[in-house]
Amino acid sequence: MALRGGIDLGGTKIQAIVVDDDDTILGQARRPTPTSGGPDDVIRALADAQREAAQAAGTTPDALAGVGLGSPGDVDADAGTIAQAGNLPDWHDAVPVGDLLGTLLGTRVAIGNDVSVATKAEFDLGAGRPYRSLLGVFWGTGVGGGLILDGEEWLGRGAAGEIGHMVVKEGGAKCPCGRRGCMEAYAGRKAMELTARERHADGEHTRLFKIMEEKGRDRLTSSVWAKAIEHEDKLALHLIDRAYRAIATAVASAVNLLDIEAIVLGGGLGVRFGEPAAARLAEEMQPHLFNDERPPAVKVAELGDYGGALGAAMLVWP
Ligand SMILES: [Zn+2]
Repeated sequence: MALRGGIDLGGTKIQAIVVDDDDTILGQARRPTPTSGGPDDVIRALADAQREAAQAAGTTPDALAGVGLGSPGDVDADAGTIAQAGNLPDWHDAVPVGDLLGTLLGTRVAIGNDVSVATKAEFDLGAGRPYRSLLGVFWGTGVGGGLILDGEEWLGRGAAGEIGHMVVKEGGAKCPCGRRGCMEAYAGRKAMELTARERHADGEHTRLFKIMEEKGRDRLTSSVWAKAIEHEDKLALHLIDRAYRAIATAVASAVNLLDIEAIVLGGGLGVRFGEPAAARLAEEMQPHLFNDERPPAVKVAELGDYGGALGAAMLVWP
């Protein structure tokens, strides 16, 4: 039996797993993504997480048939490099992550886009199984998208699926990508946190940062948002409402263009809010749908926190 490793590199956390031939998870490990330093620190953390997952599975990284890595940024799968990963510390130029991580782990490393691999995993193993076409929407630090059309991944010229950067308001809020009015500028956790910090500094009352401190965090994680909403924190509710509207506007526009069968909602926030979030998204999309009598199914990602890592492991075939 050949074991494979899979790592999902997110803006907040690194999730590593070891799977067998049936994609059953035999071991896992999770670590926070370094917020300071640079690519070297991130690559070391990736190696540590995979080593720990291998240990939990009763093996070592060098015994794996390979390790797949799903990464944000500009991923060149053939060259094994990652560039322009905006949500990672000081990561601009192309870094040969495949080689560097492969050396640290003693096995070969295949790289793919984090959202593409997570969408593929949901399509093959999760909520997307009944469908031939779907849009994966991964609502977390940013908002990523992955497309399956007629049973095949659609990557365009390599950069397709950027649902978070569909423009929902011309000349609108500044997006972490530097442009204006993108959906992510309203719905990405990073952008929402920036807005919350600004408003808090301006004297607006919110429990968001108190909850953050109580949880021992230095940023507004999905669980911090969930708790604030539980407490009906006004600012949190306002920003989340705005996020739903922005996501629904962008996704409905994509549906109008592509007429896909299903939306699969994943990511840290998407999975945390779960079924109510899927229902809310469906409801908010409705007024924007051109074909409003035949809306797409809206499903929550079934593979949860492991989707990205499972999809990454699928990049490796012994
Ligand atoms: Zn943008």
